[in-house]
Amino acid sequence: MQSRWSPESWRSKEIEQVPVYPDLAALQDVEQQLASFPPLVFAGEARELKAELARVAKGEAFLMQGGDCAESFAEHGADTIRDFFRVFLQMAVVLTYAGGCPVVKLGRIAGQFAKPRSSDTETQNGVTLPSYRGDIINATEFTEEARTPDPMRQLMAYRQSAATLNLLRAFAQGGYANLEHVHRWNLGFVEGSPAGHRYHELAEQITGSLRFMRATGLTPENTPQLRRTNLYTSHEALLLGYEEALTRIDSTSGEWYATSGHFLWIGDRTRQPDNAHIEYMRGIRNPIGLKCGPTLTPDQLLGLIDQLNPTDEAGRLTLICRFGADEVEKHLPELIRAVEREGRTVAWVCDPMHGNTIKAGSGYKTRPFDRILSEVESFFDIHRAEGTHAGGIHVEMTGRNVTECVGGRKAITDADLSDRYHTHCDPRLNADQSLELAFIVAERLKR
Ligand code: PEP
Ligand code: MN
Repeated sequence: MQSRWSPESWRSKEIEQVPVYPDLAALQDVEQQLASFPPLVFAGEARELKAELARVAKGEAFLMQGGDCAESFAEHGADTIRDFFRVFLQMAVVLTYAGGCPVVKLGRIAGQFAKPRSSDTETQNGVTLPSYRGDIINATEFTEEARTPDPMRQLMAYRQSAATLNLLRAFAQGGYANLEHVHRWNLGFVEGSPAGHRYHELAEQITGSLRFMRATGLTPENTPQLRRTNLYTSHEALLLGYEEALTRIDSTSGEWYATSGHFLWIGDRTRQPDNAHIEYMRGIRNPIGLKCGPTLTPDQLLGLIDQLNPTDEAGRLTLICRFGADEVEKHLPELIRAVEREGRTVAWVCDPMHGNTIKAGSGYKTRPFDRILSEVESFFDIHRAEGTHAGGIHVEMTGRNVTECVGGRKAITDADLSDRYHTHCDPRLNADQSLELAFIVAERLKR
């Protein structure tokens, strides 16, 4: 029997990955301010997303979730947001055409600021300081001042999230998502591609479809669906004080919703069934995700599903699998079989990033593009063999031309990594690599 849930009931549980704030009165003051601020998203939008994810779970739609590993205060320009949005839309168009089904667009954006770390501290030249935990908590510089958790950063993260979301909403609804424009950008990608011929045919087919639609009188000018889109926001629900402050009762349904983003997920490091993060997540009514890594057993997964989605509501729970190219075969089939045996409704999504991180010879953390592809391919193969729906991908990406993951058609090498290695946390696919991945996934969806 579970005890009564409230937005703060997590506070009586054990907790992992929690920052140590030196000034608890200042923290409390910030949390009270946040609690008085407007919600960033509305419950009705979260419900709409849940309905779209229910279609993913039933095999009628595909989820594309992506964005920075960690958003940063330093990179908050309109250009960064626009470039991400553009590439994300380009990917979505290719996947929509190839899959012949709706693509649900879910950014890791407008709130993705808190990071779990493998160690609480970091030592450099004999000096030990707290680890960097994301801009919402502390700063990257290796000084005592920068690394001390500062609650004021939560206010900055809230305001940055609000501004980012405002621009995304304008882009999505204000004409920037015009399908014909997005397709023209894709043609630019295909023409500029050494492997272009491979993607040419698909691009030509989309050109033909758009021409056909225009001939029948359906144009972006007269058809809102061709010039507008929905982009939802998501982040890891790690910093629970911040989440609690933005958890509100929806006046329509009388239920509790997290209003910091449409979709929140539980990280692979904070999914202990008796702990704080699961406690918080079980009570909010948003659609949620659970990261599934190599240490998750089928029984543990079924237990978590019972806690997080006891009524088997379709769209409520997305399982984000991140095993690594070498491990996916070993773990995914048994998890799928357990879920199928119990008749539970989930959306299966592949995160091919977090199980494929290596340290390059140059010392940089990187992810080889071919390992990422390999995990995606295996994910599709396994679902085909099990008769289940490969429901989507979850990637760390940016619209900018960074050099963080090795490989791809422009063959970024170990030696190139130092050129534009800008991430505050994990290595991301750049614009080119993201689009290439979309075209390759599109080929899979067509089969
Ligand atoms: C992440 O998505 O950035 C992350 C930390 O993932 P995971 O919890 O799967 O390690
Ligand atoms: Mn990451």
